[in-house]
Amino acid sequence: MTKKQRALEIIERLKEEYPDSGCTLDYDQAWKLLVSVRLAAQCTDARVNVVVEDLYKVFPDVDALAEAPVEEIERIVHPCGLGNSKARDISACMKTLRDEYGGRVPEDFDRLLALPGVGRKSANLIMGDVFGKPAIVTDTHCIRLVNRMGLVDGIREPAKVEKELWKIIPPEEGNDFCHRLVDHGRAVCTARTHPYCDRCCLQDVCKKAGV
Ligand code: SF4
Repeated sequence: MTKKQRALEIIERLKEEYPDSGCTLDYDQAWKLLVSVRLAAQCTDARVNVVVEDLYKVFPDVDALAEAPVEEIERIVHPCGLGNSKARDISACMKTLRDEYGGRVPEDFDRLLALPGVGRKSANLIMGDVFGKPAIVTDTHCIRLVNRMGLVDGIREPAKVEKELWKIIPPEEGNDFCHRLVDHGRAVCTARTHPYCDRCCLQDVCKKAGV
């Protein structure tokens, strides 16, 4: 079985297993997802979803956040950890949206990547979830699982994993596939030394590398 064949089989099985997988960060406007993905670094999505409610009560739009004192943003986002750097990035990012994009989130990967505090993972998430474009989000679950499954071989660096996955994952499948990897990584293929292979829907196609 080639890596591509294995990937296609895994995609189909995960579709059946997790038909409703999606982003677990709450947002109703694109700029809010930008804020949330920055806050989600080293923090749970559940906590981010609570904290942003407090943030938007005080600063309800891009302009308000762009004009907000960084210390005030930091005070509110403090429960997410790394408050100072996250607040600085959110402030700078909202200023850029206001000043360069009329308050809108650019529908272009390289422009997203150039925004303060936005890395490849976040830019891919926005492209996939907000704009419905091909995207591969290489978060910690994705990297652990695709190595175990044998879709990549001992690669841990996110950009390199992304590059390898683009070769074998159909572009239109990438975004949902990554969301399903998160669900599978939480429920079955956990970060424990021994994941629950005995009840995994992929056990006959997975290489179980390093397990
Ligand atoms: S068979 Fe085991 S290692 Fe492979 S995806 Fe399933 S739980 Fe993870």
